[in-house]
Amino acid sequence: MSSGSVRGHARLRDIQVVDDCLIFGGRPLVDVVEDVGGTPFYAYDREAMSDRVKTLRRALPPSIHLHYAMKANPMPAVVEHMIHLVDGLDVASGGELEVAIGQGVSPELVSFAGPGKSDRELAYAVESRIVINVESDSELTRVANLSEEAGSRTKVAIRVNPDFELKSSGMKMSGGPKPFGIDAEKVPDVLTRLKKLDLEFRGFHIFSGSQNLRPEAICEAQTKTAELAIRLSEHAPSPVKSLNMGGGFGIPYFAGDESLELNSIADNLSALVPRLQGAMPDVEIILELGRYLVGEAGIYVCRVIDRKVSRGQVFLVTDGGLHHHLAASGNFGQVIRKNYPVVVGNKVRGEQREIASVVGPLCTPLDLLADRMELAVADAGDLIVVFQSGAYGLTASPTAFLSHPPPKEILI
Ligand SMILES: *Cc1c(COP(=O)(O)O)cnc(C)c1O
Repeated sequence: MSSGSVRGHARLRDIQVVDDCLIFGGRPLVDVVEDVGGTPFYAYDREAMSDRVKTLRRALPPSIHLHYAMKANPMPAVVEHMIHLVDGLDVASGGELEVAIGQGVSPELVSFAGPGKSDRELAYAVESRIVINVESDSELTRVANLSEEAGSRTKVAIRVNPDFELKSSGMKMSGGPKPFGIDAEKVPDVLTRLKKLDLEFRGFHIFSGSQNLRPEAICEAQTKTAELAIRLSEHAPSPVKSLNMGGGFGIPYFAGDESLELNSIADNLSALVPRLQGAMPDVEIILELGRYLVGEAGIYVCRVIDRKVSRGQVFLVTDGGLHHHLAASGNFGQVIRKNYPVVVGNKVRGEQREIASVVGPLCTPLDLLADRMELAVADAGDLIVVFQSGAYGLTASPTAFLSHPPPKEILI
């Protein structure tokens, strides 16, 4: 079987198929297409999100708080669903904050991280009484000034750029020079300054990376995060109330990837919790996850418009593409392009199979949803499904490119 094959893909082992049609969210895909009113679209399965949170909670020590990082999937209906499952939300912009507030979340459960928060966004955050993860000394000054103007004592946490990195991560967010957070060695001085300001110190936010499938790398980063937090807590102006340890939990995207094994992460956290609570008796320990909570709960669906053979290679040309799903095209953080798990949704097993490439309607060779993959033989009208599309899908894609209409979204 070629390396492009998805038959052995971890994600495809447990899909449900009836009459060779994919069952999604308990319903035949063709019915979902009818409900949405046609292709292309993203569909998210609320049950899959609930199950994921349940599995995590069962595995992790009970004192760990789970936050949802909204940028993974900010669809309001998804956010509304997640609010009832998790202990808090992390927003990365004023726009995300507006969605969060709009879904009725209580402000003390929302934190706001991100470099380059504008005065307008900070003023909105101050007014909303959420926790601001401060990413620089000058941002601290701006938060203090805006809080004074508003007559509000804003809750702040210090986002730390740690002196280590999360090894073998999809995206490195820490270690070395970074635009995120305040360098660990500068944090004691910032805490001294914070003491003189009329702000409520909450604790630390230490996020070191994303999309990691190696438990030992995640454990190592969590241990170092805990040690760093304990060191920094000695300089805290008041008792540390929260430690946001970031996330980094990955999902299997490509052939050969396996699901993240949680047991060793849970064991490591169980050992860290008493150490952290010993040094910081009031501390609430938070994991903030985006992709891991929603990534596997979503599919992207488009329809074959044309089937053509060019010099022996089959191309299925669809009404969807990189303008809707940049990540599946391989242009969002991948170094070497690999195929996401893809099937023909109305002919999943398909007795007749062939090697085909799935492309979109854009005039660029980058618009590739599957590159020479083994698929059921498909023709115009058939449905193409891209799995692992619940996170960093629609909102991480250049929808304006070539002026096609945006895809719809549905939560089932
Ligand atoms: C992006 C981001 C996350 C979510 O990362 P995932 O890989 O989706 O879990 C969490 N926290 C911060 C600060 C982020 O920037």
